[in-house]
Amino acid sequence: MNLDATDINILQALMENGRLSFRQIAEKVKVSVPTVSNKVGNMENMGIIKGYTARLDTEKLGGQSVLLTIKTRPSDVKKVSERFKDITNVRQLFIVSNGRLHLMCTFSNTLAVNEFITKLSEIHEIVEYDISPIVSIEKEWSRAIVADGTSLMLQCSYCKKEIRDSPYKVKAGDKEYYLCCPVCQKGFEEKYESMKEGAEKVKA
Ligand SMILES: [Zn+2]
Repeated sequence: MNLDATDINILQALMENGRLSFRQIAEKVKVSVPTVSNKVGNMENMGIIKGYTARLDTEKLGGQSVLLTIKTRPSDVKKVSERFKDITNVRQLFIVSNGRLHLMCTFSNTLAVNEFITKLSEIHEIVEYDISPIVSIEKEWSRAIVADGTSLMLQCSYCKKEIRDSPYKVKAGDKEYYLCCPVCQKGFEEKYESMKEGAEKVKA
């Protein structure tokens, strides 16, 4: 499943400015307002558009960022990543190849950085680490790239597997769901119906 040219133009407009109204996007992309509204709604449903956030200036807010590379045994990498997931200072966390993790962390002062480093020694699965303060931000942008031929990796709403062919669509409530095959479609519809009945019973 591919994005069409209008989808791509809409996404590019929104990536530049997530506060554009449907009308402003329609004017920019030269399509009607309902087309924009439909397409944005669909892309939100599919999880392509994950949300709209403000991009803040970390340095103006007094933040000091460090890039941390951690090496673990490949079998420990998930366990180590779990230790960092909920720490507010860890802003980005990537598992990369060969049992390594990359973390982008932001702190309000040097003392906080040092406290964080001290705590690393308590995690015994860490084989070694390297910590580098960020000196200047030369480029910082969303990782997503939208261009011609961008294809979608859609997940089946029922079996959670990747949808390889054109999806089967089910409209339920005000959302559209995507299924990989007629069997999943039937399963999903039955599950959705029984969920709805359950919800109605609770209301009654
Ligand atoms: Zn499926």
